[in-house]
Amino acid sequence: MTPLVVVLSSPSGAGKSTIARRLLAERADLGFSVSATTRAPRPGEADGVAYQFLSREDFARRVAAGEFLEHAEYNGEWYGTLESEVRRVTRAGQHVLLEIEVVGARLVRERFVDPVMIFVVPPSGHLLAERLRGRGTETDAVMAGRLARAREELAAAVEYDYVVVNDDLEEAVRAVHAILDAEGRRTDRHRDVQVLLDRLRTEVSAELDRLAPVR
Ligand code: 5GP
Repeated sequence: MTPLVVVLSSPSGAGKSTIARRLLAERADLGFSVSATTRAPRPGEADGVAYQFLSREDFARRVAAGEFLEHAEYNGEWYGTLESEVRRVTRAGQHVLLEIEVVGARLVRERFVDPVMIFVVPPSGHLLAERLRGRGTETDAVMAGRLARAREELAAAVEYDYVVVNDDLEEAVRAVHAILDAEGRRTDRHRDVQVLLDRLRTEVSAELDRLAPVR
């Protein structure tokens, strides 16, 4: 099986992290690429689990060393996908989930062959604002920044392969499972499919040969 590179993006507050957590809990074939960031940990976020939390100096040093597959600025902080993380997950034989914003997603699209690009949207702008407010850990200035960014990010949704509306969480999770299952079975991705098809063709030919006398 060729591992898929799965990009999951959404405006902040559209529920992409919840969907990602569910997918990771429910699929043994999917692993999470732990991003690096310069932002401060939120309560409950352990270093190395949600993110690798880096100082700006460390982040810049690792950018210069070419350790990132992509990196982007978001609300004044840096975020990036480490090549070592993607390699760790794919070496374990898993598809790799990148939970990243749209600028980084564009770079991933350039660097990988046929990544699976999924964009999660909220059912309404009002609900998005409510969810951002509900989080309670953001100041008004951060909220305003995130809403303005959400508006920009929504404009990028058409660049993705799939748009999933997160109205009902269960349905949204089911939709992403279905996308991953289907993408994993695409003939152009799957060397196993080619082997299977070759075998089936040989077997059908043998069946035909067996029939030959009566034809
Ligand atoms: P948050 O601070 O809310 O955890 O994340 C802010 C934004 O940065 C989210 O849209 C999140 O998906 C994005 N993000 C997280 N990790 C990365 C990364 O490695 N690269 C990029 N480009 N964006 C990331």
